[in-house]
Amino acid sequence: MSTTKQAMDAPRLPGSRCDHCGNVAFPVTDGCQRCGRQEMRTVELSHHGSVWGFTVQRFAPKSPPYVPPAEGFTPFAVGYVELVEGIKVEAVLDCVDFKDLEDHASVTLTATEPVPRFATSNLLERA
Ligand SMILES: [Zn+2]
Repeated sequence: MSTTKQAMDAPRLPGSRCDHCGNVAFPVTDGCQRCGRQEMRTVELSHHGSVWGFTVQRFAPKSPPYVPPAEGFTPFAVGYVELVEGIKVEAVLDCVDFKDLEDHASVTLTATEPVPRFATSNLLERA
C-alpha cells in the first residue's frame, strides 16, 4: 500500500477548534472550555500521536457495555494518546508487545468506532 493511499484511507477523529482562541477539543463540542464562547468549528484531528500513558486490561471488563470478541478475551492496552494539537484522546492501543507502548511511542489512528483505536508502527508494518 502506498503512502498516498494510506493517507487517503486514514480514519480521522472529528474535534472542535475555537475560532476565538484556537483551543482544540475532543470530542466535538459547541462551547469552548478555555474562553467559554460558542464559536467552535468541527475539524479533523491529526491521526498520529504519542502514547502519553497506558495500562493493560488483563481481565474481561463487565459486559455490557464490553462486548468480548468472538475468539475470546485477550489482554489489551488502553491509554491516552497526545496529538500534535496538544490534546489527549483516550483509546485502545494495539501493539506487538506492551513494551512497545513505553517511552511516548509513536502511534497511528486505525479506527474511530466504537472507540478510538491507535496502533504502533511495528504492528502496522506486519499487516
Ligand atoms: Zn475559545
